[in-house]
Amino acid sequence: MSERAPKTPPAALERARVPAGVLDVLERLQEAGFEAYLVGGCVRDLVTGRVPNDWDVATQAIPAEVQRLFRKVIPTGVAHGTVTVLVSGGQVEVTTYRVEAGYADGRRPDRVEFRRDLVEDLARRDFSINAMAFDPKSGELRDPFGGLEDLARRTVRCVGDAVARFGEDGLRPLRAVRFATVLDFALDPATEAAIPGAVSVFRKVAQERVRDEFLKLLLSPGVERGLRLLASTGLLAAAFPELVPAVASGVRAQVAAVPGRVEVRLAALLASVPAPEAVLERLRLPGRTMEEVRALLAHPVPEDAPGWSDADVRRWAARLGAPRVDDALWVAAAAGLKAADEVRAQVDRVLASRPPLTVRDLALDGRGVMDVLGVGPSPVVGEATQWLLQQVLEAPANNTEEALRRLLSVWGEARGLKRGAPG
Ligand code: ATP
Ligand code: MG
Repeated sequence: MSERAPKTPPAALERARVPAGVLDVLERLQEAGFEAYLVGGCVRDLVTGRVPNDWDVATQAIPAEVQRLFRKVIPTGVAHGTVTVLVSGGQVEVTTYRVEAGYADGRRPDRVEFRRDLVEDLARRDFSINAMAFDPKSGELRDPFGGLEDLARRTVRCVGDAVARFGEDGLRPLRAVRFATVLDFALDPATEAAIPGAVSVFRKVAQERVRDEFLKLLLSPGVERGLRLLASTGLLAAAFPELVPAVASGVRAQVAAVPGRVEVRLAALLASVPAPEAVLERLRLPGRTMEEVRALLAHPVPEDAPGWSDADVRRWAARLGAPRVDDALWVAAAAGLKAADEVRAQVDRVLASRPPLTVRDLALDGRGVMDVLGVGPSPVVGEATQWLLQQVLEAPANNTEEALRRLLSVWGEARGLKRGAPG
């Protein structure tokens, strides 16, 4: 593996702002006599002027040595060489130079071996743009696989032979599409051509790893192209066959048209899918996120919304939950709701006065209801409360204690309940 002649690092690297805590980690390792570099995504992001979302350091020091050098460490994955060092304002993942051996199952290496040579560590990385190392102290950039050139060409290219690299780890084809999407890069022809043949390995990858990459693609401004690439490479059919028809029709543009948040993007993606639950289950999202997506799918803005009365707006917002109204309107507008701007204006106007939308908003609480009906805690209380809510959704002006008591006593009498009678 001959390292190409060193090139002058791009100007962006000279101006790169690396947090002091990260610089301290590099310095401490180097002063103890170990090589240490920033590696992977953070170098790629610094070169392209993006703000890295995490800081990875690769070093000659083995985990025990790293743990000795720093006071606050978490032994994240010592067996794999990774120690998390806590620094002021964040954390740094410090990983020993390593190679991975024996990908028997296409999912994870059977074992890792530590190394003394940085180039071996860079060679195990997936794409040339992710296989650069940078020392911000000296300004030295190590780029043995042409990552800088590929960044300039805006291309995602495997380190080494794409067929072999995808065969080792079936997640890499999806990562290739994810980086092409997020960075708005092309796929190198050999890299792209190797994807369809790697689909059987991709199928073995753990759902959680697939989800993490898929969500990064889904949240990208380039999601429309990303979904197209997933379909054309065969990855979509392997991971989410239910999505294939929707992605082939108009849904790609609809997803791109809504804000870049997980819940609303997923709702836009799944709105026209007959069995969205199967996809949701497979994504194994946090319960909170699932709940949001399910609510958006269960209570979409209906096609007849342009003819809504104000009470219709309140009833819909009550079913959906007021905080979700904005997302639901985004999904509907993206799907081509007629007069979407007028509907949004009406919804905004109706909700601006903060009308009562839940039983908690009622001017009469459970105790008040029991008092009016002359009953103790019993199912009729819940029934009555729901009925009262319907009355105030119809006419919010009814939401005073006096008016609700009056309405409720009429309701109670009609059902043979009256004050003082046993519940
Ligand atoms: P992001 O900015 O989205 O975090 P990243 O490049 O930092 O992107 P990570 O998943 O955080 O991606 O991985 C960090 C680095 O580890 C990568 O840049 C790459 O060098 C290496 N890497 C990660 N996953 C793989 C993989 N499946 N195969 C080979 N190398 C990988
Ligand atoms: Mg990262």
